[in-house]
Amino acid sequence: MAAKILNLGSVQNYLKNVDTAASQLINIWGKYPDTTSDDFFTQHLDCKITVIRSILNKLHFYGIVNYDKIKNENSGWFTFKWHMDYEKLAKLVLINNLDKLDSLKISCKKYEEYQMFTCTNKCKDFEFEVAAHYNFYCPMCNENLNVLDQAKKQSEIKELIANIENENAILSSFIRERNKK
Ligand SMILES: [Zn+2]
Repeated sequence: MAAKILNLGSVQNYLKNVDTAASQLINIWGKYPDTTSDDFFTQHLDCKITVIRSILNKLHFYGIVNYDKIKNENSGWFTFKWHMDYEKLAKLVLINNLDKLDSLKISCKKYEEYQMFTCTNKCKDFEFEVAAHYNFYCPMCNENLNVLDQAKKQSEIKELIANIENENAILSSFIRERNKK
Protein backbone atom coordinates (compact mmCIF):
# COMPACT_ATOMS: atom_id res chain seq x y z
CA MET A 1 0.00 0.00 0.00
CA ALA A 2 2.63 2.50 1.10
CA ALA A 3 5.02 1.23 -1.58
CA LYS A 4 2.57 2.50 -4.20
CA ILE A 5 3.55 6.13 -3.63
CA LEU A 6 7.25 5.31 -3.21
CA ASN A 7 7.41 4.31 -6.88
CA LEU A 8 6.37 7.77 -8.05
CA GLY A 9 9.11 9.81 -9.69
CA SER A 10 8.18 12.97 -7.78
CA VAL A 11 8.40 11.12 -4.43
CA GLN A 12 11.82 9.68 -5.30
CA ASN A 13 13.08 13.12 -6.38
CA TYR A 14 11.73 14.73 -3.23
CA LEU A 15 13.50 12.19 -1.03
CA LYS A 16 16.74 12.63 -2.98
CA ASN A 17 16.56 16.34 -2.24
CA VAL A 18 16.25 15.60 1.48
CA ASP A 19 19.31 13.35 1.33
CA THR A 20 20.86 11.41 -1.56
CA ALA A 21 20.59 8.15 0.41
CA ALA A 22 17.13 8.86 1.86
CA SER A 23 15.23 7.28 -1.03
CA GLN A 24 17.36 4.14 -0.77
CA LEU A 25 16.63 3.88 2.96
CA ILE A 26 12.90 4.43 2.53
CA ASN A 27 12.63 2.05 -0.43
CA ILE A 28 13.95 -0.77 1.76
CA TRP A 29 11.82 0.35 4.67
CA GLY A 30 8.74 0.40 2.42
CA LYS A 31 8.94 -3.38 2.07
CA TYR A 32 8.84 -3.95 5.83
CA PRO A 33 6.55 -2.93 8.73
CA ASP A 34 6.09 0.78 9.33
CA THR A 35 7.74 0.74 12.74
CA THR A 36 11.30 -0.35 13.16
CA SER A 37 14.45 0.06 15.24
CA ASP A 38 17.97 1.28 14.44
CA ASP A 39 19.11 -2.34 14.09
CA PHE A 40 16.90 -2.82 11.08
CA PHE A 41 18.83 -0.23 9.10
CA THR A 42 22.24 -1.62 9.95
CA GLN A 43 21.02 -5.06 8.87
CA HIS A 44 19.63 -3.91 5.53
CA LEU A 45 21.83 -1.02 4.51
CA ASP A 46 25.53 -1.13 3.92
CA CYS A 47 26.42 2.00 5.84
CA LYS A 48 27.39 3.10 9.31
CA ILE A 49 24.77 3.66 11.96
CA THR A 50 25.94 7.28 12.30
CA VAL A 51 25.15 7.86 8.60
CA ILE A 52 21.76 6.21 9.00
CA ARG A 53 20.97 8.34 12.07
CA SER A 54 21.92 11.47 10.16
CA ILE A 55 19.51 10.55 7.33
CA LEU A 56 16.76 9.71 9.85
CA ASN A 57 17.30 13.04 11.60
CA LYS A 58 16.92 14.92 8.31
CA LEU A 59 13.72 13.01 7.54
CA HIS A 60 12.52 13.72 11.07
CA PHE A 61 13.13 17.44 10.53
CA TYR A 62 10.63 17.29 7.63
CA GLY A 63 8.22 15.21 9.71
CA ILE A 64 8.50 12.26 7.29
CA VAL A 65 9.69 9.99 10.11
CA ASN A 66 8.98 10.04 13.84
CA TYR A 67 10.33 8.06 16.74
CA ASP A 68 9.50 6.77 20.20
CA LYS A 69 12.29 6.69 22.72
CA ILE A 70 12.09 3.53 24.82
CA LYS A 71 14.12 3.07 27.99
CA ASN A 72 15.44 -0.37 28.84
CA GLU A 73 14.78 -0.73 32.58
CA ASN A 74 17.70 -3.11 33.10
CA SER A 75 20.46 -1.32 31.23
CA GLY A 76 19.05 2.21 31.44
CA TRP A 77 19.83 2.60 27.70
CA PHE A 78 17.45 4.07 25.20
CA THR A 79 16.35 2.47 21.98
CA PHE A 80 14.56 4.29 19.18
CA LYS A 81 11.50 2.95 17.40
CA TRP A 82 11.16 4.72 14.08
CA HIS A 83 7.98 5.06 12.10
CA MET A 84 7.29 6.42 8.66
CA ASP A 85 4.59 9.01 8.17
CA TYR A 86 3.58 8.17 4.59
CA GLU A 87 0.70 10.61 4.71
CA LYS A 88 3.04 13.47 5.63
CA LEU A 89 5.40 12.45 2.83
CA ALA A 90 2.50 12.37 0.34
CA LYS A 91 1.36 15.85 1.45
CA LEU A 92 4.85 17.37 1.21
CA VAL A 93 5.39 15.97 -2.29
CA LEU A 94 1.92 17.09 -3.36
CA ILE A 95 2.58 20.69 -2.24
CA ASN A 96 5.99 20.64 -3.91
CA ASN A 97 4.39 19.32 -7.13
CA LEU A 98 1.79 22.10 -7.11
CA ASP A 99 4.63 24.67 -7.01
CA LYS A 100 6.33 22.85 -9.88
CA LEU A 101 3.09 22.85 -11.89
CA ASP A 102 2.78 26.62 -11.45
CA SER A 103 6.25 27.28 -12.78
CA LEU A 104 5.85 24.76 -15.63
CA LYS A 105 2.62 26.45 -16.71
CA ILE A 106 4.32 29.86 -16.66
CA SER A 107 7.20 28.45 -18.66
CA CYS A 108 4.82 26.82 -21.17
CA LYS A 109 3.16 30.19 -21.75
CA LYS A 110 6.56 31.80 -22.27
CA TYR A 111 7.40 29.31 -25.04
CA GLU A 112 4.01 30.00 -26.60
CA GLU A 113 4.51 33.78 -26.69
CA TYR A 114 8.19 34.24 -27.39
CA GLN A 115 10.59 32.91 -29.92
CA MET A 116 13.43 31.37 -27.95
CA PHE A 117 17.01 30.54 -28.88
CA THR A 118 19.33 27.79 -27.76
CA CYS A 119 22.66 26.12 -28.63
CA THR A 120 23.25 22.51 -29.72
CA ASN A 121 24.32 21.69 -26.15
CA LYS A 122 21.03 23.09 -24.82
CA CYS A 123 22.86 25.02 -22.06
CA LYS A 124 20.00 27.45 -21.58
CA ASP A 125 17.12 28.97 -23.54
CA PHE A 126 17.30 32.69 -24.32
CA GLU A 127 14.75 35.25 -25.41
CA PHE A 128 15.49 37.14 -28.64
CA GLU A 129 16.86 40.27 -26.90
CA VAL A 130 19.23 38.24 -24.75
CA ALA A 131 20.38 36.06 -27.67
CA ALA A 132 20.99 39.21 -29.74
CA HIS A 133 22.95 40.72 -26.86
CA TYR A 134 25.30 37.74 -27.08
CA ASN A 135 25.46 38.07 -30.89
CA PHE A 136 23.75 34.68 -31.11
CA TYR A 137 26.62 32.83 -29.48
CA CYS A 138 25.95 30.84 -26.32
CA PRO A 139 27.69 32.59 -23.39
CA MET A 140 28.32 29.20 -21.79
CA CYS A 141 29.73 27.04 -24.61
CA ASN A 142 30.26 29.56 -27.43
CA GLU A 143 28.19 27.52 -29.94
CA ASN A 144 25.69 29.27 -32.22
CA LEU A 145 22.31 30.14 -30.78
CA ASN A 146 19.52 28.95 -33.07
CA VAL A 147 15.76 29.29 -33.01
CA LEU A 148 14.27 26.70 -30.73
CA ASP A 149 11.50 24.36 -31.86
CA GLN A 150 8.69 25.92 -29.83
CA ALA A 151 6.09 23.25 -30.57
CA LYS A 152 8.45 20.50 -29.49
CA LYS A 153 9.43 22.35 -26.31
CA GLN A 154 5.80 22.99 -25.45
CA SER A 155 4.84 19.38 -25.94
CA GLU A 156 7.76 18.37 -23.68
CA ILE A 157 6.52 20.73 -20.96
CA LYS A 158 2.93 19.55 -21.42
CA GLU A 159 4.11 15.98 -20.99
CA LEU A 160 5.84 16.94 -17.72
CA ILE A 161 2.67 18.70 -16.56
CA ALA A 162 0.51 15.67 -17.39
CA ASN A 163 2.92 13.40 -15.57
CA ILE A 164 2.91 15.53 -12.40
CA GLU A 165 -0.88 15.89 -12.50
CA ASN A 166 -1.18 12.14 -12.79
CA GLU A 167 1.13 11.62 -9.79
CA ASN A 168 -0.77 14.25 -7.81
CA ALA A 169 -4.01 12.34 -8.41
CA ILE A 170 -2.36 9.20 -7.00
CA LEU A 171 -1.02 11.14 -3.99
CA SER A 172 -4.41 12.75 -3.30
CA SER A 173 -6.26 9.46 -3.40
CA PHE A 174 -3.57 7.95 -1.13
CA ILE A 175 -4.13 10.75 1.43
CA ARG A 176 -7.92 10.30 1.21
CA GLU A 177 -7.61 6.53 1.77
CA ARG A 178 -5.45 7.10 4.84
CA ASN A 179 -7.97 9.55 6.30
CA LYS A 180 -10.80 7.05 5.91
CA LYS A 181 -9.17 4.67 8.38
ZN1 LIG B 1 25.70 26.42 -24.94
